[in-house]
Amino acid sequence: MKKTFVTLEKLREITETYPTPFHLYDERGIEENAERLKSAFSWNPGFREYFAVKATPTPAILKLLQKHGCGVDCASMTELVMSEKCGFKGVDIMFSSNNTPDAEFIKAAELGAVINLDDITHVAALRDLVGIPKKISCRFNPGGTFEIANRVMDNPGDAKYGMTRDQIFAAFAELKSLGAEEFGIHAFLASNTVSNDYYPVLAARLFRLAVDLKRTVGVHISFINLSGGVGIPYRPEQKAGDIDIMVIGEGVRRAYEEILSPAGMDDVAIYSELGRFMLGPYGCLVTRAMREKHIYKEYIGVDACACDLMRPAMYGAYHHITVMGKENAPAEHTYDITGSLCENNDKFAIDRPLPKIDMGDLLVIHDTGAHGRSMGYNYNGKLRSGEIMLRSDGSFELIRRPETAEDYFATVIW
Ligand SMILES: *Cc1c(COP(=O)(O)O)cnc(C)c1O
Repeated sequence: MKKTFVTLEKLREITETYPTPFHLYDERGIEENAERLKSAFSWNPGFREYFAVKATPTPAILKLLQKHGCGVDCASMTELVMSEKCGFKGVDIMFSSNNTPDAEFIKAAELGAVINLDDITHVAALRDLVGIPKKISCRFNPGGTFEIANRVMDNPGDAKYGMTRDQIFAAFAELKSLGAEEFGIHAFLASNTVSNDYYPVLAARLFRLAVDLKRTVGVHISFINLSGGVGIPYRPEQKAGDIDIMVIGEGVRRAYEEILSPAGMDDVAIYSELGRFMLGPYGCLVTRAMREKHIYKEYIGVDACACDLMRPAMYGAYHHITVMGKENAPAEHTYDITGSLCENNDKFAIDRPLPKIDMGDLLVIHDTGAHGRSMGYNYNGKLRSGEIMLRSDGSFELIRRPETAEDYFATVIW
């Protein structure tokens, strides 16, 4: 059974001050997980996590991760500016963008961020805009399919990101001739992997590429960025051990010792840009049952909608739902849980077995900490919910207020 990190009693207390819907974050869970990641990679002295800002672009969250040594991974102007405002600077910032506008290269360079080039043509673009920095990274796309033990995990050949193998050799040679001294390699080949093998298999591939690049082009590779993609168990039947960061860290260490160490490259730092793994399980969307409707199916209407969490509508993604106070009641009803958008995909769950829901019940939609509120939108004039941090000491704090009609109208020219 999937447990909520918050009790019904605490939710009743919070909702007296802040009405539903809202995203709630678990400070203790976030901090313990960040420390676990660090210890899983403690064998690598240079290891650093650059939290993928797009997953949860909320300053209170970024600052919490900053306390645990994390940097940030940005991909847009606004993410760069937010990170700057949170006090990240220089090599605290990884700029892993694609189809990058000039202004963003200029901003990233001004902040001293580590720039990760998505394409070979970006070498000349960066040279002409701001010059080539001493420390630089390139994103690799091996093409084809990405498989682990004959199982297709994802399809890099269809992805718009990164450079081909030939291009990355050419890019490194060009960057070297333009004065770059420290090189990094980045690749993101599969998303939400529920496997302890993804990082180790990816790492082995990048380590071999790094050895080849060093031998062929004669560059000093100082870091390898495994990027994001480590998944979380969204479904109750998945087990915590399906994704065990200690096992993952150990798998990467073995590949490192097999490939990099014999090549005399054991000064290479490992970086990650995890988003979902860092925050996903430590956030939830709290909403209240508002209307029920019995036609050809049984519907429960809640006060949140896809504008607060679009993953189910966009990808058919599963998010577990707990009816608070009825954790042990038999799931003898089958409901569609819906928002109120005029859009039939505005459903948090379809044909979901759940206990009988009464109007006013509090529902917790699990695992919304990453790619949750941040993917929100304003269709139907819906206003996105606010965000609350549940502190380790049991207190709670508003970290982003809900949107108001004034926010929605702010860009309008009447
Ligand atoms: C989205 C993204 C991430 C984070 O991905 P998760 O699946 O949340 O781990 C990391 N790096 C880059 C470049 C991304 O685009």
